[in-house]
Amino acid sequence: MYDYLIVGSGLYGAVFAHQANEVGKKVLVIDKRPNIAGNVYTENEEGIHVHRYGAHIFHTNNKKVWDYVNRFAVFNRFTNSPVANYKGELYSLQFNMYTFNKMWGVVTPQEAAAKIEEQKKDYIAKKLQERGLPADAPFEPQNLEEQAISLIGTDIYEKLIKGYTEKQWERPCSELPSFIIKRLPVRLTFDNNYFNAMYQGIPVGGYMCFVKLEWSIGTAVGILDRIHPMLPGPNPCDTAWCSCNPGRSLS
Ligand SMILES: Cc1cc2nc3c(=O)[nH]c(=O)nc-3n(C[C@H](O)[C@H](O)[C@H](O)COP(=O)(O)OP(=O)(O)OC[C@H]3O[C@@H](n4cnc5c(N)ncnc54)[C@H](O)[C@@H]3O)c2cc1C
Repeated sequence: MYDYLIVGSGLYGAVFAHQANEVGKKVLVIDKRPNIAGNVYTENEEGIHVHRYGAHIFHTNNKKVWDYVNRFAVFNRFTNSPVANYKGELYSLQFNMYTFNKMWGVVTPQEAAAKIEEQKKDYIAKKLQERGLPADAPFEPQNLEEQAISLIGTDIYEKLIKGYTEKQWERPCSELPSFIIKRLPVRLTFDNNYFNAMYQGIPVGGYMCFVKLEWSIGTAVGILDRIHPMLPGPNPCDTAWCSCNPGRSLS
């Protein structure tokens, strides 16, 4: 008999299992995927850790969390600084001064802010005119395209938002609702770091080592099995269930 049934073998499940182990509880971990580790599952291909469910960089501003995970793995000093390729032109993401310099040749934050403002203003003026509204009327974006351009201007939208978003959603931005993009973070500094987190990195031995280690320390059992999402059959546990992020999983 187990004290806890942990549904989901991702980071949350692994941490819960470890913490329960530390206080002498016995846990059963189950997962509907054929692999452990949830979204951070990686496979070793010719010495390369391939992140099967998308690249994962561990990041936090919380020193306590950082110290905790460093008990289980050595982290490299990876800084996530993605680059977008628009027809052979390379742009830094998130949007920052390197992006704006490449886009418009501007060098100062003031120049970049002015360029964005100018494009937003022109677009909103055009749209209000099309709708027969006075120039000082509030602009209400009707779809994602209008929302994005009114936040960031035409150039950034056309080159760095439109294609990517339409690929993700498989629909034109003009047919997507505006609420999908509430705000677009803009940094008026020369900083290519994608995350605003003080601590970030990827476990040097890969996430698999990391998750397995979390489980192996302590007394209890970690078991993986394929199960039906509704968990048919009796609850095999004495006390509690721990459901780990079912909403965010990919399969
Ligand atoms: C493409 C992508 C990239 C990401 N990149 C980052 C990043 O760089 N940095 C970052 O901090 N976060 C990132 N995330 C978010 C990241 O996945 C989570 O922060 C973290 O891995 C979630 O861990 P978890 O244990 O909560 O959930 P998961 O890793 O999703 O684990 C949940 C597990 O529960 C299982 N499960 C769900 N329902 C059931 C059920 N009914 N029965 C049995 N099993 C079930 C699932 O199969 C899964 O294995 C990214 C997410 C995605 C999709």
